Order: sequence, then structure tokens, then C-alpha cells
Amino acid sequence: MTLTLLRRHFVAASAALALPGCAMTSARTPIRAAPCLPPVKAAPDRVIRTVAGLRPYRASGFVVRVDTLGAKRLVHNYGHGGAGITMSWGTSKLAVDMGIAGHIGPVAVIGAGVMGLSTARLLQDAGFAVTIYAKALPPETTSNIAGGQFHPFSLYRKDMVTPEWQRQFVTALDYSWRRFQIMIGEDYGVRWLTTYTEGTQEEPRLPYFPPAARQLRSDEHPFPVERLWRYDTIYVETGRYLRQMMRDFAGADGRIVVRGFAAPTEIAELPEALIFNCTGLGSHALFGDTELTPIRGQLAMLIPQPEIDYAFTGEAGYMFPRPDGIVLGGSYERGKWEAEVQPERIARIVASHQALFGRFRCPA
Ligand SMILES: Cc1cc2nc3c(=O)[nH]c(=O)nc-3n(C[C@H](O)[C@H](O)[C@H](O)COP(=O)(O)OP(=O)(O)OC[C@H]3O[C@@H](n4cnc5c(N)ncnc54)[C@H](O)[C@@H]3O)c2cc1C
Repeated sequence: MTLTLLRRHFVAASAALALPGCAMTSARTPIRAAPCLPPVKAAPDRVIRTVAGLRPYRASGFVVRVDTLGAKRLVHNYGHGGAGITMSWGTSKLAVDMGIAGHIGPVAVIGAGVMGLSTARLLQDAGFAVTIYAKALPPETTSNIAGGQFHPFSLYRKDMVTPEWQRQFVTALDYSWRRFQIMIGEDYGVRWLTTYTEGTQEEPRLPYFPPAARQLRSDEHPFPVERLWRYDTIYVETGRYLRQMMRDFAGADGRIVVRGFAAPTEIAELPEALIFNCTGLGSHALFGDTELTPIRGQLAMLIPQPEIDYAFTGEAGYMFPRPDGIVLGGSYERGKWEAEVQPERIARIVASHQALFGRFRCPA
């Protein structure tokens, strides 16, 4: 289904909202009003930790392509901006399919963030012996810092991507979406959550994403905002997820070597003839990709509140509830190379959420 058809679906849904009484997305699907949601207790004294991380952003989108390094085949899979968790299975699948054609023998993966681990697992599933070489392992990767929402956000600039890239993007997003669905559960820390988004709904990227999206009437939700959408999506508790991915990798006889590379010539000396580059922002220095720019994000983690079973994104920032803490975020600082927390920024993030949840009201 095309985006045009999708837009039509959204128009139909909005039109249904104009009906008095029970709103309907279609003749057959009645929509229940949202319950009175429990508010998040956002306050400075509930902050249990703070983190800052650098999103590996490229305006022209992630890089998934085959290159050569002397006699070796090098496959790039990096530059996923603020959507690396979301895109991980999909672009790794594209990279692996490109790379293994005709290859026999062991394989090297550089990087142990979400991209390196997903690539490595797909290679193992395809029957290859894999060694991961990485400067840092979980929990010391950018992937561990991610809030973990499945959403292709802050990933590319529309006027900078090619039609070929768009095709890669849709194929990858589709694969990821399906793959995460079959990983739901405590072991990976992957779950569905209803999400409330302030403002105008973005153009959907897949015919079925985000599912069950609908604009709410003001008497259907407690948020003190003018326009609100609701949809369902998947959330990943990144620490738990990456721990389990490391276990899966080890359980399939994966080998890990902790080592940093300063130049491609060092990579060319590895014994493996097929190498995957999953170094994220590291590709800026390692492969001279100057388009790769950090977008710094800072997060405040609050004491967990198990009763919070919804997520929010909007003017105040974003709130993702996880068993390891309530994630409050919303900073996008372009070109900042220091992965350091700024207390003033954290204070602003907490204050904006405190104001939002402090004005929560229950629908009459
Ligand atoms: C605050 C914040 C919130 C985010 N929220 C979300 C979200 O909700 N949803 C989402 O989908 N995405 C989110 N992201 C984006 C996501 O975290 C990144 O896109 C993703 O982590 C990139 O994964 P990666 O494996 O490419 O890189 P990384 O996790 O950075 O891993 C890179 C690996 O390569 C290694 N490496 C790098 N250079 C070298 C070298 N020279 N030699 C050897 N090894 C090297 C590193 O040590 C590491 O092991 C967020 C990011 C931030 C900062």
C-alpha cells in the first residue's frame, strides 16, 4: 500500500472523530475513550541517574553498502541517527544479505552496539563463525543509552535521500518491525505500549505503522495539550536487550575481541576476508565519513513507576516507562561531540515533564 492510501486512512479516521458520542475509525471498530491515566511523578528528587549519548546522524541517511579493503570485502552498516534500535534488524539484514553472497569462511564484525550484535546474530543464523572486534562492549555503548522506542525518528533529511535509499529504508523498517514483534517478552525486555503524541501526526512510513493511530478528542485523555494522537508501538529496554543479545551471540559460539582500530589499514590485517563495519559514530574518524555528525541526547531516569503503562512524546520532551526507570528525554544537540551530561539541560527536561504531569486532568 502506498503512502497516499495511508493518508486516506488517516483522513478517514479524523473524519470519524467529528461524530458525536462514540468515535469510530471504521464502521466496525468502535474506539474506547482513554482511561484516566496515572501521572508520572516527575521531580528532581526522583532522578536516579542521568546519561548523555551521541546519535550517529547523517542527513542523507544510514550507510549500507559493500566496499573493498584490499582483497577483503567490507560491508558498511552505520549512521542510524536517533533510530538505531528501530532500524537494527532491518539494515543488518540488508548488510548481511549483500555481504555473504558467495562467501565461505569466518566473518568479522567491528562494533558491539545494537548494529554489530544484530549483524553478528544474523551471520550466525546463516551458519558463519563470527568474531566481534570492538573498542567498547555493552553496557558502554551508545546503544545502551537509547530510550528504546520503535520509531524511525531523527534519521535523515527528506530532501537529502535518494529513491534507492528510500527503498532500503522501507525494506529495513519492515523487517525490523516484524523481527521485534517476535521478540516481545521479559527475556529481551521488548514490549508494546500505547503512546500519546502531541501535535500533528507524521506521515506514516509503513502501511501498518504506527498501528491503531488516531487523533483523540480533548475529553478522551488527561494531557494538557491541544492536539494529541494515540497509537501503539514497541519499546526496548536497551540494557536488558543488549545483555540478552550478548548471551545469544556467545551461545552460538561467537568470539569477542576487545580492540580499537585507528585506521582501515589495521582492519585490513584481520584474518577474516569478510568484514562488517558497525562502528556507529566511530566511522567518522575511522573511515573519514565527515557527513556523520553527533546529535547529543540527554536523559534523566526517574524511580520506576510500574503503574505507568503508556509513553508520551511532545513539546515537553518524551517519557518512556521502563522497568529500569522512567526515561525522560527530548534534547537534540547537533554537532556536540562531548557525551557529557549538562545539569541545566537535565533540570529543564525534568521541569518540563513536571509541568506537564502536574497539569494532568481526568476526562469528565
Ligand atoms: C539519548 C538517545 C536516545 C535514543 N533513543 C532512541 C530510541 O528511542 N529509538 C531508537 O531506535 N534509537 C534511539 N537512539 C539512537 C541509537 O542509540 C543509535 O542509533 C544506535 O545506538 C547506534 O547503534 P550502533 O551499533 O551503530 O552504534 P554504537 O552503539 O555506538 O556501537 C558502536 C560500536 O562500535 C565500536 N567502535 C566504534 N569505533 C570503533 C573503532 N575505531 N574501533 C573499534 N570499535 C569501534 C564501539 O565501541 C561500539 O562497540 C537514541 C540515541 C540517544 C543518544
